[in-house]
Amino acid sequence: VVIVSALTFRILHGVRDLVLSLVDIGQQFGFIEETLSLIGSPPLLTDGLGSCRLQRGGGSIEFRDVSFGYRAAGEDAIRNLKLCIPSGQKVGIVGPSGAGKSTLISLIQRLYDAQEGEVLVGGRSVRSVTQDSLRDALAVVPQEVSLFHRSVMENIRIARPSATDEEIFAAARAALCDGFVQGLPYGYHTVVGERGAKLSGGQRQRIGLARAFLKMAPIVIFDEATSALDSESEILLQKAVVDLMGGHTVIAVAHRISSILAFDRVLVMQNGTVVEDGRPADLLQQAGHFRRIWRLQSGALGNGAPAFQESRPE
Ligand code: ATP
Repeated sequence: VVIVSALTFRILHGVRDLVLSLVDIGQQFGFIEETLSLIGSPPLLTDGLGSCRLQRGGGSIEFRDVSFGYRAAGEDAIRNLKLCIPSGQKVGIVGPSGAGKSTLISLIQRLYDAQEGEVLVGGRSVRSVTQDSLRDALAVVPQEVSLFHRSVMENIRIARPSATDEEIFAAARAALCDGFVQGLPYGYHTVVGERGAKLSGGQRQRIGLARAFLKMAPIVIFDEATSALDSESEILLQKAVVDLMGGHTVIAVAHRISSILAFDRVLVMQNGTVVEDGRPADLLQQAGHFRRIWRLQSGALGNGAPAFQESRPE
């Protein structure tokens, strides 16, 4: 009896310790989640119950009265936004720092869920489709492109593993990579990344753009993806985007207006909403933010400002 009682006691102790450890781990997770929300990192969103695959093809985007703030009690980064972007349209987004441009792009990717309203991609609410299928429908080129410790070829191929070498070369040519890659010690087989050949910010951006040309997703998002390029390359790339991405929807957040002048449409954002919306040529005719920024950047106001400047309408 003594031995059985002692054993039972030890087992119960073990179970209690296990339960306490699980509670502790749960609390740690709560703490991590809280910390992530404090520093504003995207929460880990999961597929909703009954979510299905987004059918590849539709490249339309819609914001239906969307409001979103990073903190429940804080100011909204996006305010009551209504926006329809038809499939295939090329849209440039400009606006001062903090206007909500990156947030808008994050909501399209469902990095966050809007507190109010609905974001739709290809006619489906982003909450109702699997995140894998949403990622498949989007090609996102960030300002800071991450490279793996692999060859240039593999770094581009990652966008579409089934691509042939020829398709990779074509994407690299479209993204103006070919010239500098040919100059690397082993051309496309040169290893890059942290411990490989060091590439400049502009060269990394070109590899990011080549990935987008290779993936050819229905929706292509450039988040200041050409900011490190010289003006001439930026204009050439704009032409490549318009010529080669015919049926694809393109959203480009830009600081230099010259990089989106050939697009179908420009949105000027301020304080979480769109304050001007139209064809670039039409907006240049109106005395508004867009024309004023363009004149500042092109030096027409005697100030050759190279990047976006906060402005008041004329
Ligand atoms: P920029 O041109 O400087 O990149 P932006 O137009 O992209 O600016 P957002 O980055 O979308 O603007 O920011 C909109 C608002 O949301 C700003 O007030 C910003 O401080 C806030 N914000 C942005 N990201 C976060 C975050 N991760 N956590 C908390 N607040 C954020």
